[in-house]
Amino acid sequence: MTIGTPFSPSATKVLLLGAGELGKELTIELQRFGCEVIACDRYPNAPAMQVAHRSHVFSMLDADELRRVIALEQPDLVVPEIEAIATETLLELEADGLHVVPTAMATVLTMNREGIRRFAAEDLGLRTSPYRFVDTFEEFETAVQELGFPAVLKPVMSSSGKGQGVVRTPEDLAGAWEYAHVAGRTNASRCIVEGFVPFDYEITLLTVSAVNGIQCCPPIGHVQIDGDYRESWQPAAMSSDIEAQAQHVATRVVEGLGGYGIFGVELFVWGDAIVFSEVSPRPHDTGLVTLASQSLSEFAIHARAILGLPVPPITCERPGASVPLLGVGTGVPRFEGVDVALSEPESQIRLFGKPICEGQRRLAVCLATAGTIDEARERARRMAESVQIALDPPTTG
Ligand code: AMP
Repeated sequence: MTIGTPFSPSATKVLLLGAGELGKELTIELQRFGCEVIACDRYPNAPAMQVAHRSHVFSMLDADELRRVIALEQPDLVVPEIEAIATETLLELEADGLHVVPTAMATVLTMNREGIRRFAAEDLGLRTSPYRFVDTFEEFETAVQELGFPAVLKPVMSSSGKGQGVVRTPEDLAGAWEYAHVAGRTNASRCIVEGFVPFDYEITLLTVSAVNGIQCCPPIGHVQIDGDYRESWQPAAMSSDIEAQAQHVATRVVEGLGGYGIFGVELFVWGDAIVFSEVSPRPHDTGLVTLASQSLSEFAIHARAILGLPVPPITCERPGASVPLLGVGTGVPRFEGVDVALSEPESQIRLFGKPICEGQRRLAVCLATAGTIDEARERARRMAESVQIALDPPTTG
């Protein structure tokens, strides 16, 4: 394992596919190890591009463009930060020796809700919500008849709750179908219909696979609204029995996907049962809390793991909480009240530097620690209330 010097023939080059706020923190951590980081996304001035050594703007779903940029940059590591990538191309390039994090197959399986659901439920035999895959409205109606109300409809290619809807009565079906197709990430019409799990609470178990083995970080609790996270905290209170079960499920998923890196394993806790929901083979948005609560954040851990470095035992240093700030509308974000927010004790804030807000977009995150989870959550919430986001009209040229 050697690390070279940026801009020299020995450079350890990392190509980031996706340059959002999670990629930005990862870029900073990789640069602390002296890596040369190249950030890619479909729009210019994306958050990670602002801290990377250089960047490329193209659609990562475009297989030819992906091949062109990888051939040009000759990276040591290709690190996906989003799901929407021409992952079949990564599979082909991996066969020729390209190192994809954590593995090209993991990116193929998790790019699409169908791949990871079938893998977890059918290959690993893990408990999940009951589900059907549907391509037409008629199939959707039949699936809901079979699964019963309420059910959840999600485009197979979507994240952050986009296109996701809960149907409680037959009258909800048409609207949910329409929303799934307008808001879904691509034009693909395939959706998953899931039986609604009336879980007690949900957690993310950040699980890292590194050269020195697999371990889980203390559980992260979170609240989701419309499929998007609004608050997370660590450690989530749970009995040691249930936590051990959750760790067992997460470890099986991570072992099954293979490769080194951190994984965000999303689980529902329902009575004594752990129900597997999803996994990201990369840092997870609810894990932003670890920037404050752990000595090594999920980004620092990912950087170590993917570089083939050992990860020490991870503990939560102090109870922490995160509350993301969402912009609503169109314009260039401007933040007021950051000074007020940071007058809260043990507080930190990250402004992502996203060049534009369109619709509803996560633009920043408030982080706080305290002696208890309740106090940390209150601090982070108060911080979020102190910050106002103005959206200026975009200038051209
Ligand atoms: P996902 O995009 O699949 O992670 O879903 C986002 C959020 O929607 C989850 O974190 C849950 O809060 C909720 N959710 C998703 N699927 C289900 C389900 N089958 N039953 C109950 N809640 C769900």
